[in-house]
Amino acid sequence: MTLQGKTAVITGSNSGIGLGIAIELAKVGVDVVLNSFTDRDEDHALAAGVAQDHGVKARYIKADMSKGDECRALIEQAGACDILINNAGIQHVAAIDEFPAEKWDAIIAINMTSAFHTTAAALPLMRAAGWGRVINIASAHGLTASPFKSAYVAAKHGVVGLTKVTALETAQEPITCNAICPGYVLTPLVEAQIPDTMKEYNMSREDVIKNVMLTRQPSKEFATVEQMGGTAAFLCSDAAAQITGTTISVDGGWTAL
Ligand code: NAD
Repeated sequence: MTLQGKTAVITGSNSGIGLGIAIELAKVGVDVVLNSFTDRDEDHALAAGVAQDHGVKARYIKADMSKGDECRALIEQAGACDILINNAGIQHVAAIDEFPAEKWDAIIAINMTSAFHTTAAALPLMRAAGWGRVINIASAHGLTASPFKSAYVAAKHGVVGLTKVTALETAQEPITCNAICPGYVLTPLVEAQIPDTMKEYNMSREDVIKNVMLTRQPSKEFATVEQMGGTAAFLCSDAAAQITGTTISVDGGWTAL
């Protein structure tokens, strides 16, 4: 089966892993809907660039994934959603007793609850189309924990749980739901947490990268956005039709430790 003409909605895709997945899906002929909470010319230009480079339809739709009604409106405005990639995410690094409550709420909303709303809105479209793929971008932190990341680890474990329930509720339909669990990928989200981690551990940037981030990643290499996109494309292929309700780690061996 070809993926040509299918439509993918990728939340949080004007940067990093989301954009990487959008590009890899566009390469195999998938029309893509990019999203974030901004509405800048460069966001729309990004979509136009993907369309031009890969000969697919590409649009950018603004929607704030911290708001349930906007999550649902994103899917409605997309009009079709054969492939849903729940990717939007933020991070905050602090000890539990110093963790700002509003950061906790935002991380739970954007990293976890948004996937509930978009999935709820997308499943009827997938059922009507007779085919669907839900791919949740969880994390190695959906399977393991690190200090100072309470909200993120809680949200990502929640996403893995939601993945299993979505898979069970669609198990007898031509719809699958899986989670990709990346290790460290050098994206703006990871760049942004280096200064706080330097502070928490009292370390230099180089030491944070080598001795905090990649210390858990046995390959000692960052994973790439292209690898995330390739894994998503595989999960959309016929070969993956019986893969549902599971997690695929792309983490250089982190979760084998
Ligand atoms: P990133 O900061 O480059 O991308 C995050 C995306 O989410 C951006 O497009 C941003 O605009 C969007 N976003 C943030 N708040 C939003 C909101 N309220 N509404 C809509 N969009 C919003 O980071 P990334 O590393 O590409 O992260 C993407 C996903 O991958 C996240 O869910 C993250 O937790 C996960 N992840 C990343 C890594 C890593 O090492 N980079 C590892 C494991 C999991």
